[in-house]
Amino acid sequence: MFSTAYGHSFTKISLFSQNDAVAVLVLNYDYQPVHITTWKRAFTLLYLRKAELVEARAGRVLRTVRKEYPWPSIIRLLRYVPAPYKQVPLNRQNIFRRDGFRCVYCGSPHNLTVDHVIPRSQGGTDSWENLVTACGSCNHRKGNRTPEQAGMALRYKPRRPHYLLFWLRGAEEIESSWRPYLMLEPTR
Ligand SMILES: [Zn+2]
Repeated sequence: MFSTAYGHSFTKISLFSQNDAVAVLVLNYDYQPVHITTWKRAFTLLYLRKAELVEARAGRVLRTVRKEYPWPSIIRLLRYVPAPYKQVPLNRQNIFRRDGFRCVYCGSPHNLTVDHVIPRSQGGTDSWENLVTACGSCNHRKGNRTPEQAGMALRYKPRRPHYLLFWLRGAEEIESSWRPYLMLEPTR
């Protein structure tokens, strides 16, 4: 939880029990993601002109007696709000999460392991850029080789994820329009 320049407290919301359509991505004034909020809070920020609509959710509108409003998917704060710098811990579960619980080589969701893209024996490090989710058979086939040496291609380039990713259950549930802001690859 953190306070904003507006004096509001943003509380981390659980998306597990809620309909995915309620979640709205909040960008800071500089377009960096700062928060995920509820649609009610997003409408309030828009109504008070503290935020602007960046992306509407297709197929949904808010109807009032007088008119219809686009349903927000992404909003942007109209004043810069100091945001805490948070790092995502580099561990097995978070690597799986970043990769959407799928093998980066073949896309399989089964028998997942962590693979060093460049093997440690060839100077590969433990880093977000060098650790990926791989199924057991791809990991076995690749062995102690680089993808080039093994003739295997990664479906995307692994990167350090944005911490907001970890407020969501898994990468497969993220709105496709949110992905560029969270530094994720486009949906396959
Ligand atoms: Zn695989």
